Amino acid sequence: MAKIIVFNNDTDRMETYYRGENEPMPYNTNGTLRVREFRGSSKSSTLWTTKRTMQSWNSQRYIYGSAIPVGFAFKRPWEGGHGNQSQHYAGVAFDVGQRLSQSQRTRLWNSANNSGVWSFVEPISLTPTWVHFDKRFRYSSLLNWWLSSTKKRKFE
Ligand SMILES: [Zn+2]
Repeated sequence: MAKIIVFNNDTDRMETYYRGENEPMPYNTNGTLRVREFRGSSKSSTLWTTKRTMQSWNSQRYIYGSAIPVGFAFKRPWEGGHGNQSQHYAGVAFDVGQRLSQSQRTRLWNSANNSGVWSFVEPISLTPTWVHFDKRFRYSSLLNWWLSSTKKRKFE
């Protein structure tokens, strides 16, 4: 059972959920994003994201029209990763399509890049074996304050 903290962009408040690893993430529709997919290999007992990120996933999944295999979304800073690690630490980024063929991955990249859903889709030249997209948050938001105080607490 994971504790999942969701920053609700509409109310500017943090919400707390408890979900099993095989259950969908809060705000996910049609079971297209399970807790275990969101966490990937992260060992954190607490995960976090934003409502806007989850809604963006729903839109992207609908636009793409097929299952999107997720490598991971959430990672704590010391759990490895790549250049845009801070967006993964904020729980607003996805690394997907690792198990797709190159042509399928290119179709997914084009879908993400053209969907208008994401703040940032990493160039395909920098992500040869996965697709990275993220939904950045306002630095004036409660989430940003919460993230910086969470880093200081360094809990498991
Ligand atoms: Zn990434």
